[in-house]
Amino acid sequence: MRLDKFLTECGVGTRRDVKNIISKNEITINDKKVNSPKEKIDLENDVIKIGERVLKYKKDRFYIMNKTSGFITATEDTREKTVMELLPEWVIKKDLFPVGRLDKDTEGLLLFTNNGKIAHELLSPKKHVDKTYLVKLLKEIDKKSVNLLEEGVDIGGYITKPSKVQIINNTEILLTICEGKFHQVKKMLEAVGNKVIYLKRLSFGNLELGDLPLGEVKEVDLKDIF
Ligand code: URA
Repeated sequence: MRLDKFLTECGVGTRRDVKNIISKNEITINDKKVNSPKEKIDLENDVIKIGERVLKYKKDRFYIMNKTSGFITATEDTREKTVMELLPEWVIKKDLFPVGRLDKDTEGLLLFTNNGKIAHELLSPKKHVDKTYLVKLLKEIDKKSVNLLEEGVDIGGYITKPSKVQIINNTEILLTICEGKFHQVKKMLEAVGNKVIYLKRLSFGNLELGDLPLGEVKEVDLKDIF
């Protein structure tokens, strides 16, 4: 691969930024200074650095974030702050997008990737990928509501697929759903006469939030996802 393409793919910057960086004579390939954009790179064996920073090339990238409240799930927006603004500097942002969405006031696990095919698979209704949410409720939940949620409720003309409820206490549950309709959890609780006052996604398929602190991001592998 050509050096300029490699640098762009690593998310170093725009093609213009890349041209500038190369002309500054700061790039080394295996500790040898290079200044031609046409320089060829062996992706398997060469070590490429900008100054002391080693650049890693990854065709497919996956990161999980513990999203904080107050950010919308979108790649850009003219009015609201987006989850992209929560991505730290070390994340390679080129072509990265969030898989699915969490509401502005929802916290928890949000996956990012640049791989459209994997994202599509994870979101496909046919795949039934489980998502578990910690749900805090305004009112106490009763057995009847739990049964209804588990069987399926009407959320405005759509009957939800069976779900799993684990009771933490009278006003806190873990709800596992295998679909991702718009505002699904909030609408499901509304359908049983309750109201969600706090929502956090704890897992998405095989991915778990674990002890990832709020607002932080970590890289994951494809093998962690499927
Ligand atoms: N269900 C909701 O209602 N909101 C979310 O953010 C996620 C699931």
